[in-house]
Amino acid sequence: MDRRNFCRTAVAVGVATSYPLLGACGRSEPPQATSAKTSIRGISLDGAEIELERAAIKELGDAMTGPVLLSGDPDYDGARKVWNGMHDKHPALIARCQNADDICRAVDFARERSLLLAVRGGGHSWPGKSTCDDGMMLDLSDMKAVDVNVEGQTAWCQGGALLGHLDDAALAHGLVTTAGVVSHTGVGGFTLGGGFGRLNRKYGLTIDNVLGAEMVTADGKIRYVSADNEPDLFWAIRGGGGNFGVVSRFHYQLHPFDRNVLSGLLVWPVEQAREVLEFYAEWSRGVSRELYTGPFMATMPDGTGVVGMEVVYNGDPTQGEKEIAPLRAIGTMIDDSVKLQDYKVLQTHEDASAAQGIRSYAKNGMIKEFTQGLVDDMIDAFIPDPRTAIFTHTTGGAVKDHGPLDTAFPHRNTESMLVFYSAWTDPAEDEEGKAMCRQWHAALESHTGGYYDNIQWDGDKTVDDNYGPNYARLAEIKGRFDAGNLFRMNSNIKPA
Ligand SMILES: Cc1cc2nc3c(=O)[nH]c(=O)nc-3n(C[C@H](O)[C@H](O)[C@H](O)COP(=O)(O)OP(=O)(O)OC[C@H]3O[C@@H](n4cnc5c(N)ncnc54)[C@H](O)[C@@H]3O)c2cc1C
Repeated sequence: MDRRNFCRTAVAVGVATSYPLLGACGRSEPPQATSAKTSIRGISLDGAEIELERAAIKELGDAMTGPVLLSGDPDYDGARKVWNGMHDKHPALIARCQNADDICRAVDFARERSLLLAVRGGGHSWPGKSTCDDGMMLDLSDMKAVDVNVEGQTAWCQGGALLGHLDDAALAHGLVTTAGVVSHTGVGGFTLGGGFGRLNRKYGLTIDNVLGAEMVTADGKIRYVSADNEPDLFWAIRGGGGNFGVVSRFHYQLHPFDRNVLSGLLVWPVEQAREVLEFYAEWSRGVSRELYTGPFMATMPDGTGVVGMEVVYNGDPTQGEKEIAPLRAIGTMIDDSVKLQDYKVLQTHEDASAAQGIRSYAKNGMIKEFTQGLVDDMIDAFIPDPRTAIFTHTTGGAVKDHGPLDTAFPHRNTESMLVFYSAWTDPAEDEEGKAMCRQWHAALESHTGGYYDNIQWDGDKTVDDNYGPNYARLAEIKGRFDAGNLFRMNSNIKPA
């Protein structure tokens, strides 16, 4: 059973999920911009209408290895699509970059014209920040190669790769790093925002595993950033999102890993929610770093309300069985799929229910502990509708090994993230879908402190508060590297 399956509409999501095979990238089509017949209407950074000259677009297309796609080109409609079907935008041009030099050309083009610029990694931004109407989409989706250094236990991963590419390449060598729970999410936005996954209690957030990055800043320069080189930028991109430039490659620390892990779901009827959640609130305080258990509440397509627990034990399975035994002893379960199985089973388990093109809305809040008050309110706030669910990303453990000021991501002192999620397929249900998610959130917000920007539709409204003590430093670095705020399609940090 799959926790997001519970929040699908009864009508199955018929849009197949697919991502391009690793290594299938490379130079493909010739530049399309050369065929542009007229000037194109564009939009500037501050919303004014501008004209994009045919000659300049041709020059960009000729200078890039990858194609520049315009409306009417055969690949344009496919390229402009992003994960959340709510965002049906038409960029003036799509610069499909193949390498860091292409990124420089595209960034120069946008900056020189003050053209609105959206950077697309995996395209999974809930609020649709990786696309725009009438601006440029800088598309990294062909940049998905992952190069593993087996001996050094590290990987270079291109900025348009998906989490499945990173997992597959590392696992092939008995290695892994923290990656998120849906394999078609992009490494780009995911990593730059923080990166929560099922291994974070042991290995920390994904940003805690970033050794460095190659990126193109607003001045069109390629920079390598690490603890020793451009340390301010290195600090800022670990939690500060896409505000500081386009990352062409991430350098990740990997860890030896037995991909056969004790994992699966434990599920009870929602009528037992009090027993399950009250037990979890106490018991979860003392669990090991090897154990990841995230509670969720949802409604199955047949209307059955459930409370469940996702379980992953990253260690000796015999020890894991002992550690999760108390969970199995709670009440009467309706499903127990926890067994020794390939890590990829769980890592791809939710791919289809969170399929490309679905319509979705999400909010979240960080919590320091599962209090009795939170449990009470979770039970009271339950919405019995298969289109919505609440689930958690469990933190603590290694996530707390770094202080709030060590990286731009400030919410270190937490035990969990509550995620409020709605998904549906019919545009007529847009307002209802959003409203259900907001209703969960409003009922539980008082238990939260700050939020994770990557799973927040409207996070940019309170971006400065949410970064807390890190905001002033982020704004100062933004002012130094992107004074004109070229990279503004994100939870935007205003240049100081
Ligand atoms: C189905 C689903 C499951 C998810 N699961 C998890 C999870 O388990 N854990 C978790 O932490 N988060 C999760 N998320 C949230 C996810 O981290 C964010 O949606 C993230 O922004 C996705 O990155 P992307 O590259 O696919 O997005 P995009 O939409 O391509 O980009 C998002 C933002 O990042 C910027 N950006 C993207 N790539 C780059 C780059 N290479 N250089 C510079 N800027 C870039 C974009 O400009 C944009 O502002 C999930 C999201 C979805 C939709």
